[in-house]
Amino acid sequence: MELFNDAEFSPKTVRYNLSKSQYIKGMQCKKSLWFLKHRPELREKPDALRQFLFGEGHKIGKYAQNLFPGGVDISALAEDIPGRLQKTQEHLHKTETLFEATFQYKSVLVMVDILHKTPFGYELYEVKSSTTEKPVFLQDIALQIHVLEGCGLIISEAFVTLINSAYKRHGNIEIEHLFKHNPLYEKTAPIRQNLPEILEDLRKTIKHPNAPSIEIGPHCFHPYDCDFMAQCWSHIPKPSVFDISGLKLDKKFELYRKGIIKMTDIPEYSGLNVKQRHQLNAEKTNQVFLNKKAINTFLKTLHYPLYFLDFEAFQQAIPPYDGLSPFQQIAFQYSLHYLDSPTSELQHYDFIAEPHRDPRPLLAQELIKHIPENACIMAYNSSFEKLVFAQLASAFPDLAKELMKRHSNIIDLMVPFQRHDLYTKDMHGRFTIKTVLPALIPELSYSDLAIQDGQSAVRAYLKLLDISDETEKEVIKNNLKAYCKRDTFAMVKVLEVLKELAH
Ligand code: SF4
Repeated sequence: MELFNDAEFSPKTVRYNLSKSQYIKGMQCKKSLWFLKHRPELREKPDALRQFLFGEGHKIGKYAQNLFPGGVDISALAEDIPGRLQKTQEHLHKTETLFEATFQYKSVLVMVDILHKTPFGYELYEVKSSTTEKPVFLQDIALQIHVLEGCGLIISEAFVTLINSAYKRHGNIEIEHLFKHNPLYEKTAPIRQNLPEILEDLRKTIKHPNAPSIEIGPHCFHPYDCDFMAQCWSHIPKPSVFDISGLKLDKKFELYRKGIIKMTDIPEYSGLNVKQRHQLNAEKTNQVFLNKKAINTFLKTLHYPLYFLDFEAFQQAIPPYDGLSPFQQIAFQYSLHYLDSPTSELQHYDFIAEPHRDPRPLLAQELIKHIPENACIMAYNSSFEKLVFAQLASAFPDLAKELMKRHSNIIDLMVPFQRHDLYTKDMHGRFTIKTVLPALIPELSYSDLAIQDGQSAVRAYLKLLDISDETEKEVIKNNLKAYCKRDTFAMVKVLEVLKELAH
């Protein structure tokens, strides 16, 4: 079979005007596709987190290639698109499995993660760093089938290859169990049926000199946050209806379409719940909501010795150690502030695991050693701390009894804020420690730290795996310690404020 034999679509005369990612963008919003083609400079640069997630996704794609030993990676044979089209053509018939095989059909370009030849035709695999199937994956695969069939290939099945959340590592990774393959050929049929018209429509959008007139809407966030929001959302003030915490997106747009945009413009709106009304009233009147009785009841549940605990943890799609499942949290660090009695001096202890080895055994022993079994343990959003204790107990049965004693002593400092026992305008409808701390104690924040949020802490810790310079390692470790320490110190100070206000 001779592929790309049409002069317009030959590898030598690449004319694609729509890649797979551009098609996905166009399906989300034609205006964003137009911006991408005509005003790419308006696109917001991906933040560090998005870049990190993209890198992680890329790693999974590479790792999944081990499912088909002996496959040929087209992207390693040629760097540019014409070269990849050429190499695909050369290898298609003589190689059983291709990675990043590249095809174009009617100016649409796709690269297939894994293309595997069988006696019945070709199987294509789209690898995703996800444990669940999402509607956008159907779009992705439908386009690949459309292009490959257009090029004359018989597709026997098209799979989305996902991470199997039920997998647990024992010894070496069993790659065939780490991944699961969902067949989607039939499921994509309704999308494929309409693709010629849809693609034509997207081509017209691209060719048009002006951006299509499309209002902002829920589509700005689904399936992905649009990277042209700075452009389209510039007329939305702060705070707006979109900042009402916990209000469904369609309700927010219902208000927006009625011309209610500023938060303070919202009238007595029956659709708001009590907490949302607090947020609105605080915004309008600067009123502080304080329920002393509820705070006192909460404070009575505490006892000494009083420990303030915070973990940092990372998660990876490919479980790095025995007994772990994909994306399971792996605590690598903690900070403890503690008071032995109401009058004793505040003390601090912290732990950070050495990279390159399983942090859990030593971390579990340290926790038992440094937190007395009778201590009252405060955590903020404690479901996470409880999860870490429970998972450590399950991983290390000989320590389980001691770990679960601490687990049952954990009290959540977030509860009074979650219930709005204390609410101020500066909390902006949220109750994380990062919003509560500056709202109550403006002079204490995270802004002076090199690491200012949990995701940055994870990236910093994982960076330790890649560097050998001891001085650089020490700097990162100290930054991580300072960040985690601020979290527990913040809890100490926030509790002091609650005590003061409860009198
Ligand atoms: S911000 Fe919304 S309306 Fe604007 S281009 Fe993106 S998705 Fe379309």
